[in-house]
Parts: sequence; C-alpha cells; structure tokens
Amino acid sequence: MIVRFQRTNGSRGWGWKNSRGVVDLSNSSPALPTCTRDLIANWSRYETEIHEQSQRLDVTQDPLRLLPPIDPPGKILCIGLNYRDHALETNSPIPDEPIVFNKAPSSLIGPNDPIQIPTSSTQVDFEAELVVVIGKRLKNASESQAAEGIFGYTIGNDVSARDWQKGKPAKQWFLGKSFDTFAPLGPGIIPAVSVPNPNRLRILSRLNGTVMQDSSTSELIFSPQMLLSYISQVLTLEPGDLLFTGTPAGVGVARTPPVFLQPGDRIDVEIESIGSISNPCIYAT
Ligand code: MG
Repeated sequence: MIVRFQRTNGSRGWGWKNSRGVVDLSNSSPALPTCTRDLIANWSRYETEIHEQSQRLDVTQDPLRLLPPIDPPGKILCIGLNYRDHALETNSPIPDEPIVFNKAPSSLIGPNDPIQIPTSSTQVDFEAELVVVIGKRLKNASESQAAEGIFGYTIGNDVSARDWQKGKPAKQWFLGKSFDTFAPLGPGIIPAVSVPNPNRLRILSRLNGTVMQDSSTSELIFSPQMLLSYISQVLTLEPGDLLFTGTPAGVGVARTPPVFLQPGDRIDVEIESIGSISNPCIYAT
C-alpha cells in the first residue's frame, strides 16, 4: 500500500508498505513523483517502477511516524446514514437519496496520531468508515465510469462532535465534523485491484479494546460508484479526493447510555483486507 511518513529527523516522504515493512521511495528514482496525489493521478505510468523498486530496496529501519497517505489533500466528501444497520439504530428512515457533507482537509491526521478532544464539546463520537480514493477526474460520470475512477481504498474515522453536528443553525454538520484532528486516515492506500470484494468487507471499531462497531460493507445503502456518479453531477472529482462512505451501527451517540470519547481513550478502526488505524485521545492544545 502507498504510505506517507515523517522520518525521525523530521523530513517527510512516501513509500510502499509490504509485509516486510516500508520501502522509502521518495528519493529512490528520478522517474517517480514527489507527492502521492501525482502518484495516484498517473499511476499507470509509475506502477511498474514502484513494483520493481519496492522489491529491490530494503525496508527502512527508521521508526517512521505515518502521515495521512494523500498529499496535498483535496476534497473530503462524506456520506451520512449510508448503512442500513446505522439508519435503524438512529431511528432514521432509509434515505432514498444520499446525504452528502464534507470535512475540512485540515482535520486530517495520520493513522496513529492523537485525536484532540476540544473543550467546546462533550459529545465527541467515532465513526468507522471505508474511504474511497478517487483516481481519475470525474464529471457527470456514469456509475461504470465512476467505478473505473476508483483508485483504491483506505480507512477513516469520521470523528464527530454530536453537540456541534446536531445543535447548530440549519442543522449544518460541517463544523461538528471538522475540528482539527477529526479525520484520522490510513494506514495507507490499497489499489482497488488488490481489494476484490470491497462490497463484502468486515468493518470494526474498538474503544479501549472493546468492540463498538462490527458490520460489513455489504450493509451499504449506496455503493461507492453510485455516490461518485451522483456527486459528479455537481462538482468535478479529482485524483486524490476522498469519499468517506458512511458508518455502520454501534456509534457512541446511539448507545444507552451514550458513549463519547474522552482524553485517555484509544479508538481503533479495522477493515478486512486493508488494515487498521489506532488513535489515542488527548486534551486539545
Ligand atoms: Mg460518517
């Protein structure tokens, strides 16, 4: 999978993570790009070189800090109420048209970075999500064109301040979803060809080791290609843009009593065939 990282000396790069570890490809060949957005946009040009270099080179021994895998970040689009089991638990009707909102790109953090719990919210919740990474420019795309425009997949946590999400004028969700650090993403991006069954992946979240969400992407109401086709009627999707596809049942706000993230907690999201992310929660600085 494609990963970005920060080295111990503070410099940043990208590479390929395999079963042996991370191969640093940032400076391995002048034929390769310097940013992962360019890499994804022109994957067919780079794929062979990446495969050869990642076989040939040793994995780095540097204890890297993984960063969100897409850089520079673009649009982060998200879908609300897109799992049947989650619509049921929130007593919401099954939507007949997608609920689309966005998160600020500045909310992105790496797969192991701390989530900052803001003092202005007492209802910070977690949402395990399959994230689609767009690989081709899509405008007025058919569903089959949209399917071909999916570069790959990664894991996201759509962290949500429920008091800000639901208690603001016009019920706008943007601020409650966009606090700094509210979009953990990673550990890397897996090309779609390596995920043969994206519509049948087990998806889980764990809070301090206890399973909170345990579902399958087979519960998705709207498929990724339908969503991308729908959104591309309005705006042009670009390579590297992200689509958070929604979360299954088991979020904190729907529990009795409700469960919200506190400083000192650790929240993990795991998706079959992709991997996992694990983020500690700390007081906002
Ligand atoms: Mg969500």
